[in-house]
Amino acid sequence: MKKAKKRKAKRQTRGSPTWPPGAWKPKRRGAIYCSPACGANCTWAEHQWAKREAKVLAKHLGKGWEPRVWENMRWFWKVVSPCDRIKVHPTYDRRADSAIDMLASLVPVSYLAFLGTPDSAGGKWSASGDTPGAAIRNVVAKAIADLAEIQASIGGLEEWQE
Ligand SMILES: [Zn+2]
Repeated sequence: MKKAKKRKAKRQTRGSPTWPPGAWKPKRRGAIYCSPACGANCTWAEHQWAKREAKVLAKHLGKGWEPRVWENMRWFWKVVSPCDRIKVHPTYDRRADSAIDMLASLVPVSYLAFLGTPDSAGGKWSASGDTPGAAIRNVVAKAIADLAEIQASIGGLEEWQE
């Protein structure tokens, strides 16, 4: 828990060191739940929805997966693997031409998985899939393919030897 808090603090300051402390701390004003730094009047309802969606997927993926929500002009969510190397984000189709489209837009159309070193916000590798499991399998397969290519390239390299 302490580690997660530290990560969160780190993430919120990266890239924008000029934000005063607490700038990214959301404040509740009736139906609004938004931080001063965001200022897009993000809603409490969307926050609660994002939190719930993240929790459901984290539970589905198994022990140690963690739900995360964050705000940047709206509320987003993802889940993080127990080893902190894999992050899975939902992808939504935000077209909402009709009420039915609007309801459908609440269900992810696919998932995007990132693989990287622990404590990285995203990862060097990314891949999508129809399900969270497919996205995870695809991103790991990509990294393994890259590793094989690196091994094939570096393994036979003689000029580099000193
Ligand atoms: Zn906001």
